[in-house]
Amino acid sequence: MKERIHEKFLTLFGEGGMVFASAGRVNLIGEHTDYNGGYVFPGAIDKGIMAEVKLNGTGKVRAFSLDYDEYVEFGLEEDNKPQQAWADYIFGVCRETIKRGGKVEGFDTVFAGDVPLGAGLSSSAALESTFAYAINYLFQNGIDKFELAKIGQSTEHNYCGVKCGIMDQFASCFGKKGNLIRLNCKTLEYKYFPFDPEAAGYKLVLIDSCVKHELASSAYNKRRASCENAAAAMRKYHPDVEFLSDAKRVWLEEVRDEIPEEDFLRAEYVIGEVQRVLDFCDALERGDYETAGEMMYQTHFGMSKLYEVSCEELDFLNKVARKCDVTGSRVMGGGFGGCTINLVKKELYDAFIKEATTSFEEKFGHAPKVYDVVISDGARRVE
Ligand code: ADP
Ligand code: MG
Repeated sequence: MKERIHEKFLTLFGEGGMVFASAGRVNLIGEHTDYNGGYVFPGAIDKGIMAEVKLNGTGKVRAFSLDYDEYVEFGLEEDNKPQQAWADYIFGVCRETIKRGGKVEGFDTVFAGDVPLGAGLSSSAALESTFAYAINYLFQNGIDKFELAKIGQSTEHNYCGVKCGIMDQFASCFGKKGNLIRLNCKTLEYKYFPFDPEAAGYKLVLIDSCVKHELASSAYNKRRASCENAAAAMRKYHPDVEFLSDAKRVWLEEVRDEIPEEDFLRAEYVIGEVQRVLDFCDALERGDYETAGEMMYQTHFGMSKLYEVSCEELDFLNKVARKCDVTGSRVMGGGFGGCTINLVKKELYDAFIKEATTSFEEKFGHAPKVYDVVISDGARRVE
């Protein structure tokens, strides 16, 4: 990828620049916990965006996307927002840097990526954090990594119309090879946990159902409302319950008769999920991948039966994983489509992939996609 980018850069701009990269991400466990003040547990992956960048001494950005085979030029004022969606991510990062007092002037760039788009691996965060990092480096703005992640998040909010949380950009800015990062979404404290499944005889693989159910956004708002309702009910007796993540299982039991059954089930899932992240981390510290994997199955069960954000295709993939003795498997992301993430022993990998792809295609009429992932570095300069 680096050579392809460089070749195009020379053709367009004459002289080479510096190279930067960042990554997409997976989340091992901790789903729908972010807006409940709980933990998430992501890591950057070996699929990302790479960009060659060089200052051009003008007030304009000149960008070429290799994957879209498209060239765009834009200024740095608020009303210079480009038409092309991919360029809005770069424009947004420039604007958000400027809003934070950073210096941004014209630059030339050619970039490309290998994160599958819209599969739940956050190609957009990879794109944002590549440029947030590159701009910070080139203009020596001295903005810290957390703020770089927020620049990406604000770009989504203000220039791309996506009201996302901080996890994706956080993972892609803080990602470290062989490590997952447990982020407390309430305090924003984080901790690295070594995670090297390959060394322990496992592989991490995503199976993309390639379905996207339209339910997702209205259901998301309903789930959030249920969580807030359950937290409010407990807050009457336990004033410290700011978020559901602050609640204990027994406290939820106390208000069972005061809230709709549905809200109870949603809260039961979230409280369980926050604890599962902690249990997953404990298991990792013991090198116990089997227990960690079992937590993933429990998460899937909760998302499917209590939180009700799975779908037929994902439940099917989860069942196939169990049948093939896969160590851990669950739906990853918000639900209603997308991928399952699977932790599988190397010797079972081939049989699992074969069974999952053929039986899925037989049942649903289209083949799922398979992505192997390795936990890798996030935003960085490439020498
Ligand atoms: P995801 O879940 O992968 O983040 P999004 O819809 O949030 O999906 O972001 C995908 C968008 O990000 C693409 O439509 C495109 O505008 C931009 N993007 C991602 N990867 C690339 C790339 N390699 N080249 C150009 N634009 C990209
Ligand atoms: Mg995205």
